[in-house]
Amino acid sequence: MNQVDYLRISLIDRCNFRCQYCMPEGAELDYILKQQLLTDAELLTLIQEVFIPVGFTRFRLTGGEPLLRPGVVDLVHAIASFPQTQDLSMTTNAFLLASMAQNLYDAGLRRINISLDSLDPDIFDQIIGNRGRSRWQNVWEGIQQAYHVGFNPLKLNVVIIPGVNDHEVLDLAALSIDKQWHVRFIEFMPIGNSQLFGDRGWVSSEQLRQQIRERWGLTESQVCGSGPADVFQIPGAKGTLGFISQMSECFCDRCNRMRLSADGWLRPCLLNESEQLDLKTALRAGVSTAKLREQVRHLLAMKPEINFKGRDTGTIGVYSRTMSQIGG
Ligand code: SAM
Ligand code: SF4
Repeated sequence: MNQVDYLRISLIDRCNFRCQYCMPEGAELDYILKQQLLTDAELLTLIQEVFIPVGFTRFRLTGGEPLLRPGVVDLVHAIASFPQTQDLSMTTNAFLLASMAQNLYDAGLRRINISLDSLDPDIFDQIIGNRGRSRWQNVWEGIQQAYHVGFNPLKLNVVIIPGVNDHEVLDLAALSIDKQWHVRFIEFMPIGNSQLFGDRGWVSSEQLRQQIRERWGLTESQVCGSGPADVFQIPGAKGTLGFISQMSECFCDRCNRMRLSADGWLRPCLLNESEQLDLKTALRAGVSTAKLREQVRHLLAMKPEINFKGRDTGTIGVYSRTMSQIGG
C-alpha cells in the first residue's frame, strides 16, 4: 500500500484574489469565522502529537492564500523546527511574496509553488477577478524574489482554461528553458466553478504535451517527483514541465496525501467528501491526542477504500467546498 505521509494544511480559507476557477465572483462563500479557525497552538499540537506520530513527515501550507494568515512566518519556523519534518513547502499566489520571501526562507521554508496562469497582465487580472491596478507585476516580482532568495525547486502552477489562456501554453512552458523553474500544468477541475467548467471545458495534459512536443520536442524527465505530476523536459532546458492530470488519468492508487482544512477537518480524498474527521471540535471538547491518533490511524487504513472511485463510472462528483476552502 502506498505510504500516506504528506499533509496539505490550509492556513486560511480567505484570499486576496478571486480566481475564476476557484472563487468566482458572485459565488456566496461562507468564510470560516475567526473563532472556528485552528489556532496556531492547536495546529502545532495536531502536527506534533497526532500527525507526526502516525507517520506524516511532509507538510505543505496552502489555503486560501497562506500569506494572509497572521503569524505565518512563525508557523513556518515552528513546523520546520520539528525534527521529524522532512519537507515543508507552500503554495501561494505570490501577491505578497516579494516582501516576505526572505523571512520565509530564513524561517526554514525551502520549497514554494506559485500560481501563475498568464504572462499577459490583462488576462492575468481577468483570471484573478481584479479590476483595479494590475497585480501581475507584484506576482512577477514575488517570483523573481523567491528565485533570488534561493527557493529551490521553484514551481509555477498553471491551470489552462480554453478560450482564456490556452493560447499561452508555449510561452508558459518556455519559462522552464532558461531558469531552473518547474512549470506544472494542472488540469482544470469542476471544483469551485462548475459553470465555467461546463461552459469552457478543460484541456487534457496530453493535448498540452502535444503542442509542446511539436514546438521543441519533449523527453520524460529523469527527475521524478513523489507526487501526482508526470514530469517531462524540453530537451536542454534547465527546468522541467509537470503535468497533473487528475481529470484524464487516475492516480488514486499512488495517492500519498490527506488535507487539513483551516477549521480542522481532515479530508482523506480531494474528490470524495465522505469520511472527514472534525479534529478541531474533538480537540476543543477535550478528546485526548492519543484518541485522535487512533482515529487518524483508522482513517489511514481506510484511505484506499475512500479514494475516489467515481471516475470508473464517469462521475466527476459534486463538491460543496471550493479548493480555497479545502486547501487545494
Ligand atoms: N492561493 C494559493 C494559490 O493560488 O497558489 C494556494 C491555494 S490554491 C486553492 C492552490 C492551487 O489550486 C492553485 O494552484 C490553483 O490553481 C489550484 N486550483 C484551484 N481551483 C482549481 C480548479 N478548479 N481546478 C484546478 N486547479 C485549481
Ligand atoms: Fe485564491 Fe489561490 Fe483560489 Fe486563486 S487559486 S482564488 S489565489 S485560493
